[in-house]
Amino acid sequence: MDFDLTPEERAFKDEVTTWLKANKPDFGEGGENAGRAAIDKRRAWQKKMFEAGYIGLNWPKEYGGKGATLMEQLLFSEALIETGAPSPVNVLALGMLGPTLISQGTDEQKRRYLPRMLDADEIWCQGFSEPNAGSDLSGLKTRAQREGDHYVVNGQKVWTTLAHVARYCMLLCRELPAENPRDGLTYLIVDMESPGVEVRPLVQLTGDAEFNEMFFTDVKVPVENVVGEAGKGWAGAMTTLLHERGTLGMSLANQASITVQALIEHARRLGRGGDPLVRQRIAQHVTETRALFLNGQRAVTSTMKAGMPGPEGSLMKLFWSELNQRMQETAVDLEGMYGQLKGNGPWQYGFLRSKGNTIEAGTSEVLRNIIAERVLGLPRSR
Ligand SMILES: Cc1cc2nc3c(=O)[nH]c(=O)nc-3n(C[C@H](O)[C@H](O)[C@H](O)COP(=O)(O)OP(=O)(O)OC[C@H]3O[C@@H](n4cnc5c(N)ncnc54)[C@H](O)[C@@H]3O)c2cc1C
Repeated sequence: MDFDLTPEERAFKDEVTTWLKANKPDFGEGGENAGRAAIDKRRAWQKKMFEAGYIGLNWPKEYGGKGATLMEQLLFSEALIETGAPSPVNVLALGMLGPTLISQGTDEQKRRYLPRMLDADEIWCQGFSEPNAGSDLSGLKTRAQREGDHYVVNGQKVWTTLAHVARYCMLLCRELPAENPRDGLTYLIVDMESPGVEVRPLVQLTGDAEFNEMFFTDVKVPVENVVGEAGKGWAGAMTTLLHERGTLGMSLANQASITVQALIEHARRLGRGGDPLVRQRIAQHVTETRALFLNGQRAVTSTMKAGMPGPEGSLMKLFWSELNQRMQETAVDLEGMYGQLKGNGPWQYGFLRSKGNTIEAGTSEVLRNIIAERVLGLPRSR
C-alpha cells in the first residue's frame, strides 16, 4: 500500500507547515494548557488561522468553510501537531458540534452558528454527562418542558469542558418519559447567557480547571433551537459522539508519534537509552504507535467513503488513550525519584492529564463494549 502524499497534498502540507512555523504563538510557561488566562490568546490564535484560510477547511463554503477535502483538513491537523502549534480553542465546536449541525441542523441554525464557531467568536460546550448519567447517557434527568414557543430547562450537567467560557451549549435533555430511555430525548442549543444558567469550575488533577458543573433553573430556550427532531435527540447525540471519536482518530495517531519521538529524546538525554529494559519498553511503544497510525489510515479511508466516521473511531480512541498513559508513565519512570516532582518538566503535566484519557469521550470499558457489539457484531451485553 502506498502511503505517500500526492504532489498536491505534499505542496499543501508544506505550505501550511511553513505558515504555522512562521506564525505560531508562544504561550510561555504552562503552554496552551495554562487554564483560563490562555483562552483569550487561543481565541486570537484560532481567528488568525481562520483568516489565513485554515479553519473549517472541509466545512461547506456557504457557512464560512473552505469546501476542501477531509484529506486537507487532516493534513492541516497533522501539521499543527508536528510544528507544536497550539490547537484552536473551539475544539468541541470544530470537531463534533459543528459537524452535528452541518448534518442535522436547520439552514437557519447553520447560517447563524457555524461561521462564529470558525472564527472563535462564540465558543461552544457539550452538555451530555450528569452526576448519574455518563456511560449510561440515556439515563439523564435534565428536563426540557415545552411551554408554547419555548422549552423550560431544569437540571444539572457535569464535567462540561469549556463551559466557563462558552457562549452556547449543545444540551441533551429529557422531554418525554419513554419505555426505551433512548426515546423522548431532545437536543437543544442553549445560550449560556440565559437567566438561570450557573457554571461552577471543577479543578482537575493537573491543577487546571478545564471542565465545570452546570446548573439550569427554569432556563427558557426557544423551540427553534431544537437540533434535529424534538423527542429524537438520541440520533443527534450519537452523531456528535461518532464525530468525537472519529475525527479525533488521526490526530491522536499523530500525537502518539510526536510523544514517542519526544520519549526517545528524553531517554537519550537522561543517558538511559542503553538500559535494556528501557529500550524494550520504548520499542514496544514505537511498535504500537505505528500500528495506531496504520489503523488511522484505514479509518480515514472508510470515513472518506462513508462521508461520516464509523464505530471504528472507538478503536483508535481506546488504543491511543491506553498507549498514551503507558508512554507518559515510562517518561516519568525514566526520571527516577525526580519524576514525582511537579514542575520538573513537561512529562509531569502529561502524566497527570493522561489519567483522564481513558474516561473522556467514552471510558475504555464502554469503548470495548461498542467494539464488541458494533464492530465485531457480538451479542449485546444487556
Ligand atoms: C477530561 C474530561 C473532559 C470531559 N468533558 C466532557 C464534556 O465536555 N461534556 C460532557 O458531557 N462530558 C464530559 N466528560 C465526561 C465523560 O464523558 C464521562 O466522565 C464519561 O462518559 C464516563 O461517565 P461517568 O464519569 O459518569 O462514569 P460512569 O459512567 O459512572 O462509569 C464509572 C465506571 O463504570 C464503568 N462502566 C460504566 N458502564 C459500564 C458498562 N456498561 N460496562 C462496563 N463498565 C462500565 C466505567 O467504565 C467506569 O470505569 C469529560 C470527562 C473528562 C475526564
